[in-house]
Amino acid sequence: MKTPEKFVYVFGSSRTEGAAAMKNLLGGKGANLAEMCRLGITVPSGFTISTEACTAFTEQGRDAVFELIQGEVLAGVKFLETEMGKSFGDASDPLLLSVRSGARASMPGMMDTILNLGLNDEAVLGLARKTNDARFAWDSYRRFVQMYGDVVMGLKPVSKEDHDPFEVIIDMVKAQKGVKLDTDLDADDLKELVQRFKSLIRARIGRDFPTDPWEQLWGAVWAVFESWNNERACVYRELNDIPASWGTAVNVQVMVFGNLGENSATGVAFSRDAGTGEDLFNGEFLVNAQGEDVVAGIRTPQQVSLVGSQRWAELALVSEEERQLHYPSLQELMPDIYQQLLRAETTLENHFRDMQDIEFTIQQGKLWMLQTRNGKRTGSAMVRIAMEMLQQGMIDEKTALQRVAPERLNELLHPIFDPGARKAAVILARGLPASPGAATGQIVFHADEAETWAKASKDVILVRKETSPEDLRGMSVARGILTARGGMTSHAAVVARGMGKCCVSGAGAVHVDLKARTMSIGEAVYHEGDWISLDGSAGEVYAGQIATKDAELSGDFGKLMALTDKYKRMDIRANADTPDEAMVARNFGATGIGLCRTEHMFFEGARILAVREMILADNEAGRRKALAKLLPMQRGDFEGLFREMHDLPVTIRLLDPPLHEFLPHDEANQRTMAAEMGVSLGKIRMRVEELHEFNPMMGHRGCRLGISYPEITEMQARAVFEAALNVRAVGIHVKTEIMVPLVGTVREFNAQAEVIRRTAATVFAERGETLDYLLGSMIETPRGALMADSIARQAEFFSFGTNDLTQMTLGFSRDDAGKFLPEYLKRGIYEHDPFRSIDQKGVGVLVQMAVEKGRSVRPDLEVGVCGEHGGDPVSVAFFDQAGLDYVSCSPYRVPIARLAAAQAAIAS
Ligand code: PEP
Ligand code: MG
Repeated sequence: MKTPEKFVYVFGSSRTEGAAAMKNLLGGKGANLAEMCRLGITVPSGFTISTEACTAFTEQGRDAVFELIQGEVLAGVKFLETEMGKSFGDASDPLLLSVRSGARASMPGMMDTILNLGLNDEAVLGLARKTNDARFAWDSYRRFVQMYGDVVMGLKPVSKEDHDPFEVIIDMVKAQKGVKLDTDLDADDLKELVQRFKSLIRARIGRDFPTDPWEQLWGAVWAVFESWNNERACVYRELNDIPASWGTAVNVQVMVFGNLGENSATGVAFSRDAGTGEDLFNGEFLVNAQGEDVVAGIRTPQQVSLVGSQRWAELALVSEEERQLHYPSLQELMPDIYQQLLRAETTLENHFRDMQDIEFTIQQGKLWMLQTRNGKRTGSAMVRIAMEMLQQGMIDEKTALQRVAPERLNELLHPIFDPGARKAAVILARGLPASPGAATGQIVFHADEAETWAKASKDVILVRKETSPEDLRGMSVARGILTARGGMTSHAAVVARGMGKCCVSGAGAVHVDLKARTMSIGEAVYHEGDWISLDGSAGEVYAGQIATKDAELSGDFGKLMALTDKYKRMDIRANADTPDEAMVARNFGATGIGLCRTEHMFFEGARILAVREMILADNEAGRRKALAKLLPMQRGDFEGLFREMHDLPVTIRLLDPPLHEFLPHDEANQRTMAAEMGVSLGKIRMRVEELHEFNPMMGHRGCRLGISYPEITEMQARAVFEAALNVRAVGIHVKTEIMVPLVGTVREFNAQAEVIRRTAATVFAERGETLDYLLGSMIETPRGALMADSIARQAEFFSFGTNDLTQMTLGFSRDDAGKFLPEYLKRGIYEHDPFRSIDQKGVGVLVQMAVEKGRSVRPDLEVGVCGEHGGDPVSVAFFDQAGLDYVSCSPYRVPIARLAAAQAAIAS
């Protein structure tokens, strides 16, 4: 790094060198403090030591950096002395400082604040005289020694009982005095605490507490730089993709005190409601308190605004008289200050054009702003604030779209726990957040029983080791699904997302005993009928019932969605297998079905019997007989879907899973099947054995089935064409697309295409009318991607099955990866779950290459993706770049994909 010319930037009433645009250099806090000064807002004067000094510290060490910045820091302190008319180190009237870290991005993992720096045994007396308040002076000194001893000198607990060594001493002194609260301690007690703290530091660290203010200041500066590489900060950086090279800035400011009596206070406020997004200035404050008291939660804070205060009283069941007496708002208590705060808040929000989260202190009737930043908010607040600011003319459409994190829309789409009820609940286990929403119900272990219970109007949670297509109906009636095994693309996860049903998958601590009908977690055992609750957005399992409430799709949400259509380039389709799912998808704005998994239609009632008859048949004639029974049902399924989708495209995929999935594997169910079908148990067992595969995901599935049994493809194709012609007769012109799964060579595709085209010709001849349709290939094997040009010569569209493509490219089983992936992620071997967010460097390259190859021979080739990645915002951005025409995702993720697609288009 070239050595910069300047490391220190001052801000204050007479001069300000920084600005909001200098976040990279000054960190978020420092840049915004400077900006506030520029806006004429009263801020305690200070200076920021730049992030470049931190980088130099890491690279060149303390001594070298001291040489580099010493002169500038001296000048910075001089600036503060001039601003305040005091001298640093003057014991009779000490200039006290605060020292805070502040990186580019807000980083909760980093160093805590140091307050009251500059105090020592002499200065404390000077402060007491100046303020005429000995208790205040000793309390400030006590806090300083405590914070500095911990944060800078590194005093650590030596045992469990010693959890916070300073607090242990405070508790001892309080016990001796027979008092309960810190506020009950008087000046002498606090003086005693200071002595004891210093002795403890000397005994444990072997050094005296520094009395020289300069030594204190440099110690604090180095501690901030060192904190950039402490463990908490490193972990936080890793989780949030923050590069180590950014470094942190140090902010040194003159102290202001919110604990100088009844006309002093400290608080935090938001320019809009962070929970609901309502355009209402709100916040909390404490009279006669310092910053950490607000966070500590010992005293009940008061509300800033009168409206907020009245609402709070209603919720807290506090009467109006009591409120006015004990908890008046700042607006009532200090009306002038409140007006100043309101003006500052308005200025800041208008200036930054975003909701502000501000910290302030009132020192003896004078207002000081300590910080401002864009406030964190809930998903629904995000939407409301973006749309209202757009309406208020504060931001433009593109900015409004970019203000909402797509993933956060989840919070608006599914039922959620009542926040109050959730607080009291106990977490039993954690798994993967497989499908969002909240559910509460009674445990059942068998899918058919879930149906029985649900018919009796009971709320059930289906608990399984893992689910299979047989469980589909039970899953559809359950409130939520919990599995002990399986990852983000396990059967349970994919199906639950499609249904918009809450699901926690792969909760490893859960042991399911199907025979005993129990689920054990550690020592605790839960029986069928016991109540549990699931949070599918967090992957949490709770004991007992927790009240849930339906999500509300507010008007702003609709407006935001309409706006996405104006900017996005890609279409958003949905993966839907039933008319109900299709309806949800359309309501959320899907403009087609990108994947109908036809096997999901085969499990209900009479169909499963016909499917099983086909599987048990000894020859083609037997299979055709069974397929003839399936044909009208399958045709009806497609008609239902087509009707729901009107004139939009619907992509139907031929049968994909291995046939053994349609047969029961346990003896009891095999016996029932034998009785129902009038065949011997032995025959069923034998067929199950024949169909057994060591690796079914790479076995007899996908187009391999249709190649072995072309009559299946024939029946499915006929059902599609007949259904399309039937709905056309009532004026619905659906765009029919048929796709072949698991293609690895063009010959596989051709074999299936021949059957489909021949069937089309037969049906059209029978009906005396024809139909336009597209015939395409899934690209979900690596070989399929490599051969994309030759496949595109025959196929009219591609749909990337990124679930299988990921599974086969990485060689990670979709269903078993949950066993080792968490460790892989923890150790950074993979940065993200590749089944959730596309592995851009590996699988992504195959996608890009296949698109290029495909379009090189067929320029108008329609290309989409129908794997789970179609609903992941980061993957959606990648697919936009790769030039895909559409993504297809679970119906409940359609709004997320729409927003992600709009953001991707804006970004490029
Ligand atoms: C895929 O593999 O990505 C896909 C969409 O198909 P399925 O998940 O049904 O295998
Ligand atoms: Mg697949």
